[in-house]
Amino acid sequence: MSAPLPTRPQPRDAIMRIAPYVPGRATAGSTGKQYKLSANENPLGPSPAAREAFIAAASNLEAYPDGGASLLREAIAATYGLNVDRLICGNGSDEILSMIGHAFLSEGDEAIFTEHAFLMYRIVTLAAGATPVVVPEPGMQCDIDLILGAVTERTKIVFLANPNNPTGSYTPASEVKRLREGLPGHVLLVIDAAYAEYVRKNDYESGIELVATRNDTIMTRTFSKIHGLAAIRLGWAYAPAAVIEALHRVRGPFNVNAPAIAAGVAALADRAHVETAVDHNQYWLPEVSRRIREIGFGVPDSVGNFILIDFSTVPGADAAEADAFLGARGCVLRSVAGYGLPHMLRMTIGDEEANAAVIAALTAYREGLSGA
Ligand SMILES: *Cc1c(COP(=O)(O)O)cnc(C)c1O
Repeated sequence: MSAPLPTRPQPRDAIMRIAPYVPGRATAGSTGKQYKLSANENPLGPSPAAREAFIAAASNLEAYPDGGASLLREAIAATYGLNVDRLICGNGSDEILSMIGHAFLSEGDEAIFTEHAFLMYRIVTLAAGATPVVVPEPGMQCDIDLILGAVTERTKIVFLANPNNPTGSYTPASEVKRLREGLPGHVLLVIDAAYAEYVRKNDYESGIELVATRNDTIMTRTFSKIHGLAAIRLGWAYAPAAVIEALHRVRGPFNVNAPAIAAGVAALADRAHVETAVDHNQYWLPEVSRRIREIGFGVPDSVGNFILIDFSTVPGADAAEADAFLGARGCVLRSVAGYGLPHMLRMTIGDEEANAAVIAALTAYREGLSGA
């Protein structure tokens, strides 16, 4: 006798092992002005040209978009000097990560990522029925030798966020190259360069150079951060032709919508807006980091548009308590307990007013502690 059939539809076991992604909250529920600094969004918003292109696309909503997103791929190719046939666009780079999982991972395969890596890698791996292999990140820094040491015959993918969210640390180009050269040829290296535009380090490379010369490496990028277009969900990847060809097979035929394509093309053309956003971050990232350190909280060096605030450096301070305290003052930060960092909060670099509000609230929190 076989076991009785379930009385209702059952998802695959692998799916039920996934802890759903919890986004940074939009408000802290306090009244008054809210400063949402929980999702690494661009405080300057998108290029006005991108907004206009998006609105203009509304006059043609009955037509399916170009399934290949050709205009957008051409604009990306022109901007970065890439071969248009080696580009693919997605409904956010999250979608491209999912496509990679579908196309390359089977039950029993392993995917490697680091301890504090972006949560999507785990979700993508589990969704494919594959096994996440998590490598420690000493000092919140990727350790290439630890990653290489975790490779087995079953390893299919290594996910590397560079820079990483939420740690804000980056892996120098020479180390990424060493990682690639140490990996077997059948392992796909996925370099997630969501924050590449913000990085101002001579020894950093987004992945373009590596992908250009290899058949085993893919780089993903996003319009959600530097371009301030998180709402329209737009990402892209640069990969070897054979990888692109595989991803097209699992891609929804019209996965990127027409207003998003139009806005993306316009955003790429507005180089001045990108520069303004980079300059804003260049000024405020060190400034906010310095001021928060002055209050007494640890702030690890970051190369992204966000920082971690370490509450373990102040006796009696607690990240969850501070989160509530800041929230009551309209400052919405991101808990990173789910990233194995329960003593920290992540803060997106905001506009001047938002940054000042966080610094004032952290100062008040600290004063409340010493008075206790
Ligand atoms: C924000 C972010 C992304 C971008 O995701 P989208 O789906 O393109 O909005 C990808 N990777 C990391 C590490 C991120 O922080």
